[in-house]
Amino acid sequence: MMYNNLDDLSPEDEEELRRLETQISELFALLEKSELQIGLLKDENFQLKAQIQKLQQQPTPTQYKNPQVETIKVPKEVVATVSPTDENIRINKRKCPNCGAAGFSIKEVDDKTRIICYAPRRIYMKKKVCTKCRFEF
Ligand SMILES: [Zn+2]
Repeated sequence: MMYNNLDDLSPEDEEELRRLETQISELFALLEKSELQIGLLKDENFQLKAQIQKLQQQPTPTQYKNPQVETIKVPKEVVATVSPTDENIRINKRKCPNCGAAGFSIKEVDDKTRIICYAPRRIYMKKKVCTKCRFEF
């Protein structure tokens, strides 16, 4: 039936038909190319989505790590607040009960009369001496 129709066509129409046919085949080729490109883009899109998922999954552990770091900092702060009180105790201990001199006036020296251990080296009990009044305690 198509053949019969073609037979009825004038040479001009036939030429027009060929032109349209080549255009159609060109368009099909273009469409094929586009479909190929769409396929490539789909693949790329899939890969990018996978990357996004990976990146979205990564921040959660790092966000989880941050509070951990902060919780590590908290005991540090506790230690920091504890150490001054320790120093205060030390300073308080370094106070002459005789004249009340404190700090650098009190020297910590070995009490050679009270040996804690002999080996590997001799360790003596510490005693504090007030440099102001020479009171030992
Ligand atoms: Zn003293």
